[in-house]
Amino acid sequence: MSAPMPIPFVSQSDPAAVASWLQALRAAMPEEEIIAFSELDEDQRAQCRVAIVANPDPAQLKLLPQLQWVHSVWAGVERLVADLGQSDLQITRLVDPRLAATMAEAVLAWTLYLHRDMPHYARQQQARQWRPLDYVLPEQRRVGILGLGALGEAAAVALRQARFPVLGWSRSARNVPDVRTYSGMDGLAEMLAQTDILVCLLPLTAETRGLLDAVRLALLPPQAQLINFARGPIINDEALREALDAGRLRHAVLDVFATEPLPPEAWPWSHPAVTVLPHCSAPTDSGTASAIVAANIRRYRNSGEIAANVDLKRGY
Ligand code: NAP
Repeated sequence: MSAPMPIPFVSQSDPAAVASWLQALRAAMPEEEIIAFSELDEDQRAQCRVAIVANPDPAQLKLLPQLQWVHSVWAGVERLVADLGQSDLQITRLVDPRLAATMAEAVLAWTLYLHRDMPHYARQQQARQWRPLDYVLPEQRRVGILGLGALGEAAAVALRQARFPVLGWSRSARNVPDVRTYSGMDGLAEMLAQTDILVCLLPLTAETRGLLDAVRLALLPPQAQLINFARGPIINDEALREALDAGRLRHAVLDVFATEPLPPEAWPWSHPAVTVLPHCSAPTDSGTASAIVAANIRRYRNSGEIAANVDLKRGY
């Protein structure tokens, strides 16, 4: 069966990444004609109704006059929402159980890193100090998760399996087995006051930008620790630095930043209470992601149904 219209892959990634995505997407849906945006001719551009994207240049999307649907291979869509918010386009973001499992593994790994005081022992080794700290049971270390979506819920399950008490906060009230859940701003304050390790897995939206400011960070118990695997601007940078400098926060693991790559002069690189990661907590798996995109596109071809899952008003 020949495809009724080509599907462009629109991305500002480097050529090697684009080639690798094209290969994975073509393998997942050999019945479709998937073409890099730069390879489309004028006639083909005029036919495209669906685009698969990874950080696309919005100007390129505007050159597709029939476009209805943009399917991202990324989970975070704050840039797409900002770029396409005024349009009538439908947007799908990646929801992939493999991504959730990878993120849950990262949350567990870095929670254990903080729980077992690894940054502290690394510093002691530098100073040739032999001083065991008191052991704390996981049952005594409360982990609060901001965001109980696809990634937050998977992380909560992994943390429960490791015997941590888990608290979770979301916009709407959620029910997750064995997790104490909160919503709304009162709920946030209540949860922060009982959180020893705070894990951020919120989308970046108008409401979550700067959410963790000086006031909210001060609600955490003394010596609380923080993991940000979501987006940098959710945390106020200066407030975070002050809380770490003052020793109110014991340590922060930061995987995401307002500017990426993190510039060499940025303070987190050299702060003794910060672990910097290069946005590596949960990379997309191009194989499973392409299979999910393919299934959504097949459904669209067969029934016309668009698997949109991003609400432009809500921002995620
Ligand atoms: P999701 O399924 O959309 O879940 C988002 C969660 O955040 C939901 O529970 C939602 O509440 C909650 N939320 C949103 N706005 C809120 C607000 N204003 N107040 C309270 N709760 C709010 O998203 P996901 O797939 O779990 O992904 C989360 C984020 O992880 C992505 O947006 C992306 O930025 C980031 N990410 C990072 C990496 C990495 O490698 N570092 C990889 C993938 C994704 P409701 O349940 O009420 O909707």
